[in-house]
Amino acid sequence: MFDRDPLVNRSGLSGLKHLWVGRAAVWTAALVWQAGGIVIVGRAETPSSPANGSGSWGNAVYVNLNIGDTLPYLGKSVTLLGVTNNIVTVSVDGKTCTLAVAQLTLPAVINGVRVFVADTRPVAALTTDEEYPLVHAALTGDALLCLSDLARPLLDPDRFTFPISRDDGFCWSMAENSHMFAYLRPQRSHEGIDIDLTPARGKEIHALVAIEDGTVRWVEHGQPPEACLLLESESQPGLYYIYQHLNRDKVFVQPGQSVKRGDRLAYTCGDWRWGHLHFSVVGAGGQPEYADRYRYLLNCFPQLAELWHGSLAIETPVRTSGKFRFAN
Ligand SMILES: [Zn+2]
Repeated sequence: MFDRDPLVNRSGLSGLKHLWVGRAAVWTAALVWQAGGIVIVGRAETPSSPANGSGSWGNAVYVNLNIGDTLPYLGKSVTLLGVTNNIVTVSVDGKTCTLAVAQLTLPAVINGVRVFVADTRPVAALTTDEEYPLVHAALTGDALLCLSDLARPLLDPDRFTFPISRDDGFCWSMAENSHMFAYLRPQRSHEGIDIDLTPARGKEIHALVAIEDGTVRWVEHGQPPEACLLLESESQPGLYYIYQHLNRDKVFVQPGQSVKRGDRLAYTCGDWRWGHLHFSVVGAGGQPEYADRYRYLLNCFPQLAELWHGSLAIETPVRTSGKFRFAN
């Protein structure tokens, strides 16, 4: 059933005009109330402006802030104090905390507000890869923060599930180095999260499943034997999930097909060298085409960690490579 709570209660937002503080446009407070109680991007006063690239997912909102901006949230004041490379200094009602962009980093709790850094302008500036030049399009301010109410999970467990079946022994170690925006080679900003499926290479185990109820929008073939799938959220139309590195001979759904949370979508492909699910969340910009599917990515590591562990009261491994490499 749809949650009909008032918007302000659902997401804890107030002062809505402050949500969208990107430099490209002044945003109205005309946020769209969607089934499932989700806030999505409002309408810009400048019609030619694209969707500003931030938005929400589940119980969290993604907000762009410039240094010095203050955003009312849950009755408190969230202020962006500084951004240096991938490090952000933020305060909530005067309590200050320093956070790194979430790769294997979990949210902090600052005066009751759960905060993680989805992206920063210096991190985005590192990307010069011509293949996916707009990976960081959700970022329109100095930093993109993800805010949520500590009293609620990031994703409700009765609506979402981890995107790999847990029925046959899959275990996510989080030991991969290719997390969100990790720089795997010069200029490339990794466009999602790789979840290791080494034991599933060439086998029909560890099925990839629907993270929530939704509709398959397309299934595209990349380099053989691969396929890639786009799933649109039912609870939040306009939000999409990308499943990449599927075995094209083991895809069980068709474009236009409705699926329920946990439904089997496909098995992954892979050979003796590699095999993993590349998973991404696209939060704005309308339905992406295959060619530029990574345009409006939302950093989604904390949500996946929460889905896997059932909470965020965990420790994550130390990442040894795939780090940002800044000149200064
Ligand atoms: Zn990947």
